[in-house]
Amino acid sequence: MRIIAIECPECGYRLPGSNSLIYVTDKSGNRIECGHPGEGYSIWRILRTELNWLQQKLHSNPSNMLGHEHFKVKLSIIQRMLGFKNICELVDERTGVLYNFICTDCSDTFKLDIQRDVKTCPSCHSALIEHTHDMVGNTCPKCKSGLIIEWDTGLEI
Ligand SMILES: [Zn+2]
Ligand SMILES: [Zn+2]
Repeated sequence: MRIIAIECPECGYRLPGSNSLIYVTDKSGNRIECGHPGEGYSIWRILRTELNWLQQKLHSNPSNMLGHEHFKVKLSIIQRMLGFKNICELVDERTGVLYNFICTDCSDTFKLDIQRDVKTCPSCHSALIEHTHDMVGNTCPKCKSGLIIEWDTGLEI
């Protein structure tokens, strides 16, 4: 996945990019961010005790099957094959996607799961938050003079 930078050419203020990030929630409720590639392995590592039955059934490492963006599709096939009802629910319940947001009131940047989280700034509780990508073409929240641009760094993650 290419890293797309979002920044102000006037003052150099850089916003977190528009790339999404998969996370998995551990048993204590902590969100563990999963780097790309290999997010399937990270998910398996956190959920492995709960997914252990799968390893026993298939006599192979489930991370081989999970190490892919389409892991949920593959899991649903396995689920049907084995007649196991809860595996997709477990993965759905314990994983999500984070996007970068900025608060237009206090300029704080943070990540939110838009499916689950309250859409307010965690610092000042303002509801005036924007996806960082939507700031492209807008006035820089730091220097208030430059226009935010987006450019392809050419770097991969
Ligand atoms: Zn704020
Ligand atoms: Zn600026």
